[in-house]
Amino acid sequence: MLFTHRVDDSHRVKLEVWSAPGLSKPLFQEAMKQNFKPAKKGDSFGPSYTLKLAPRFEVEYMRVTRSPSATNHWWKVALDIPSYFQQYERVQFEFDPGCEAMIFSTDGTPLQGITGGFGGDRRVEHIIPASAVKKGTYSIVIESSCNGMFGVPWNGDTIAPPDMNRFFGLASADLVVPNMDAWGLLADFNTLKEISETLTGNTGLQNKALVAANEIMNIFDNKDLASVKKARKRAEEVFGSGWEKKGEKIYDEGTDRHQVWGIGYCHIDTAWLWPYRVTQQKVARSWSTQVDLMERYPEHRFTCSQAQQFKWLEELYPPLFERVREKVKAGTFHLVGGAWVENDANMPSGEALVRQFTHGQRYFETRFGKRCETAWLPDSFGLTGAYPQLMRMAGMKYFFTQKLSWNNINVFPHSTFNWVGIDGTQVLCHMTPVDTYTAQATVNDINKGVTNHKNLESSDKSLLVFGNGDGGGGPLPKMLDNLRRIRAASNNSRELPPVIMGPLVEDFFDKVLEESNAGTDLPTWNGELYLEFHRGTYTSHGSIKKGNRKSEILLRDVEHVATLASLYRYHKHDYEYPKAKIDVCWEKVLLNQFHDVLPGSAM
Ligand SMILES: [Zn+2]
Repeated sequence: MLFTHRVDDSHRVKLEVWSAPGLSKPLFQEAMKQNFKPAKKGDSFGPSYTLKLAPRFEVEYMRVTRSPSATNHWWKVALDIPSYFQQYERVQFEFDPGCEAMIFSTDGTPLQGITGGFGGDRRVEHIIPASAVKKGTYSIVIESSCNGMFGVPWNGDTIAPPDMNRFFGLASADLVVPNMDAWGLLADFNTLKEISETLTGNTGLQNKALVAANEIMNIFDNKDLASVKKARKRAEEVFGSGWEKKGEKIYDEGTDRHQVWGIGYCHIDTAWLWPYRVTQQKVARSWSTQVDLMERYPEHRFTCSQAQQFKWLEELYPPLFERVREKVKAGTFHLVGGAWVENDANMPSGEALVRQFTHGQRYFETRFGKRCETAWLPDSFGLTGAYPQLMRMAGMKYFFTQKLSWNNINVFPHSTFNWVGIDGTQVLCHMTPVDTYTAQATVNDINKGVTNHKNLESSDKSLLVFGNGDGGGGPLPKMLDNLRRIRAASNNSRELPPVIMGPLVEDFFDKVLEESNAGTDLPTWNGELYLEFHRGTYTSHGSIKKGNRKSEILLRDVEHVATLASLYRYHKHDYEYPKAKIDVCWEKVLLNQFHDVLPGSAM
């Protein structure tokens, strides 16, 4: 019932494939010069990893690293769309290679990411533009990589060594017409289920949702399309009559006292169960998906940190970088963090922590004309008490984190507080009570934003940082749809915290200040933010720590000597301070201070 039509014959869907040699990851232009061979749905491709070593060494390699690269396969797709598809609201191409992939336009612009398989992060649909449906033909190019969101783990255990020889099958390469009403009913029912399971049983909204869900089950008949419309009408008794047609305007109705502020985010570990080259692909996949979503959900705001990831995008995917730049200018793609990467926040030297910010902010300013105003380290394993001063000096007065929710002994006592550093400087800090930076935008997440908030006496607001992450992805359409339904339900009830979409992270912090006497009503935390977990990351993989410290000291010496040389030889004009060369060296050191690299958790 979810699909009205599904077509996969080779006259309608013409596929050709080229597999890049070894572990190479050629870019679009290079791939297009190669010889493609005919391919079909069901074809197997891989392996995940090709290491031609004696088995003894292969086992050793697997023991020491969880981060192999993956083989890459390029697909040319030419679609012949039946003319009777023109009558439908939406036509999609469904491509499921069982692994990660990215769709390009035929001129090489990344259009969106694909996540194959059947996990919660599955996203296999590409909406075909109406103009192409009318024309009857449509062509795209797809690059698939033999890794999942979390590498290629054995038996699904993400922190086990990778499966080196996994093959994937092209499970779907179909032209489909989704039944939008049926998908809408599925989403309605899911939200009603979440409401009835999350709220306590003696509230009006919970009762209404439970009864509506029950009646929908009685109304629904999988052989009768008309029952779908009838069932959806029943759901409107909870969401409000005609709620769906209001689209993003649903957020303009109801209260203006918003408690949960939604912001899309996509945590991409710069390296973890995958190496940097895979991260570069993840960045393009995830961010192109978000740019695409912004076109269809005007309320969607997406936030991103790590200047290094932007630099990779600029170098490797210039057409997408330009699209991101447009969204930054429009205020929908939002820059945070101000640092080169989301670095480890205890081990780098003081000078290196400063350079994270100076290199990061300089990059953001030169490429986007603005610096970040909020520091952003949601996943670093504890934070030095030197940070409030460093953040302020880097031009940031707000800070977002959440990792201390992982503490295994003490529950950290605050959600919104003034964090005072060792020199007395303070920043306004929010540790989301939702307890995650990869929220799924469920009713439970929204509710937790209030029920788990530890400072309701001084601030009743929280940030909902939602979207798939660690391995990238970001928000899915179903999350944005769920938030609209949740807001619609709360417009008719006071039992769910009102969620707002559209404002930025700084708007949230500004509001907290406004409502807490400029922060004076908020509690204070002095000194470091110590994470009671991941303790072994400071004592294991010593060679990485040693290499980092050696590099920091060496760079200090190089800068010192180069400064003296430029002063001494200045009058002769025959020595120029090698700024560009030193910057490149610093960028390498800063990159390797990432929060899964320097601690050794990627090993
Ligand atoms: Zn992380």
